[in-house]
Amino acid sequence: MTPPASINSNIAELSRRIRLAEQENGREANSVTLMAVSKTRPAAAIRASVAAGISHIGENYLQEALHKQDLLQDLNITWHCIGPVQSNKSRTVAEQFDWLHTLDREKIARRLSEQRPAHRPPLNVCLQVNIDEEPQKAGIVAADIPSLAATVASLPGLRLRGLMAIPAARSNPSEQRQVFARLRHCFESLQAQHPEVDTLSMGMSRDFEAAIAEGATLVRIGTEIFGPRDPAPGV
Ligand SMILES: *Cc1c(COP(=O)(O)O)cnc(C)c1O
Repeated sequence: MTPPASINSNIAELSRRIRLAEQENGREANSVTLMAVSKTRPAAAIRASVAAGISHIGENYLQEALHKQDLLQDLNITWHCIGPVQSNKSRTVAEQFDWLHTLDREKIARRLSEQRPAHRPPLNVCLQVNIDEEPQKAGIVAADIPSLAATVASLPGLRLRGLMAIPAARSNPSEQRQVFARLRHCFESLQAQHPEVDTLSMGMSRDFEAAIAEGATLVRIGTEIFGPRDPAPGV
């Protein structure tokens, strides 16, 4: 496991790069939130990241996430589900998370809203956009954003916050920016219909600076905080 001291210095270095990218692109200071993506990492690594100032944690696998949430109840963490959600697992997301970044189906939206416990605020939702229109990839195409957004906005258990995407990797920096720019245009159109949306969830370890240049408000970082991942999920 990456020792807590390196997690701490990795986060300091990332925060520095994020602030620099904000400055260089005329973004407001602290307008980009750093989410730590902790899939396959032990609870102790999350604890170290929280000690280093992180408050947003992203998890992909529900069983793994629940186990860690249980071990970290003493911490003040905003939990984000960033993995795919099958309809038979929607209740877990509705009950145990603060955010979902991967909504791409109306049926799941309705289930989540019904299943959201009355004592909790509405579940914050980003629509996942398949920005490269890759056949095997989750997410809706840009043309379908308005109808799913209208559904989410109408459901009492959900709060529409914005868009999320995982573009295909590109080695050419200008192509990398172009794909984020397309997502930004989708976001601006969405904002015209739903002025309340405030979240553009894009950018990972390999490309977060390009994402910030194109308006990301939240970057999802795993490797640059916790080190390389083992291929298999674990707890
Ligand atoms: C794993 C993952 C990340 C983080 O990826 P890194 O390359 O480790 O920064 C971000 N977003 C999603 C949806 C992921 O599954």
